[in-house]
Amino acid sequence: MNVILFGPPGAGKGTQAKFLVNQLNNFQISTGDMLRDEIQKNSEIGKKIVEDMSEGRFVSDEIVNSLIENVVFDSKKKNKLIFDGYPRSLTQAKNLEKLLDKTNQKIDFVFFLNVNKETIIKRIEQRKSIENRSDDDLNTIVKRYDKYMETTKPVLDFYSKNSNFYELDGSSKIEEITAKINSFLNV
Ligand code: AMP
Repeated sequence: MNVILFGPPGAGKGTQAKFLVNQLNNFQISTGDMLRDEIQKNSEIGKKIVEDMSEGRFVSDEIVNSLIENVVFDSKKKNKLIFDGYPRSLTQAKNLEKLLDKTNQKIDFVFFLNVNKETIIKRIEQRKSIENRSDDDLNTIVKRYDKYMETTKPVLDFYSKNSNFYELDGSSKIEEITAKINSFLNV
């Protein structure tokens, strides 16, 4: 089963992705983690993206799409993909469709975790003190949220017309969201 978890930074996508990974024996595909990895390794990609990441700007579609291509073509991960933080633009969404088509796969569920800006800011501030992520200062948080909302509206429109799209209240308790997701997945 392939699932997209969609929603602004801090909506709880990562948390729900980890539950799904355990439950379904799937793989969490977090472009944020993949990009942070590239920075850690100081790779060519890492050097190109470090500024965008720390400023809270989106990394180019070209770079993110190239990282995702390897994942979708990995036969071990076929039909076991939990997307967390991808796609974030219409170009990325269309790229994903194309890659899935080529590998005979599809997206089974799209869950939109909808949360307002105030809740997000509170949550990310808490996470900052736990994980110490450098892109998590308040200014960056607000930029990331606004950029997310602006850029992802077309992505939301792209997915929301399909019958496999579910909008959830992302400000509910973690376990309530998990239970809702499970009820839709029928697990
Ligand atoms: P995340 O861990 O998903 O909150 O992502 C952290 C940062 O990584 C974002 O603020 C962007 O700079 C970058 N990023 C992650 N995923 C994407 C994506 N799909 N497209 C563009 N930039 C991304």
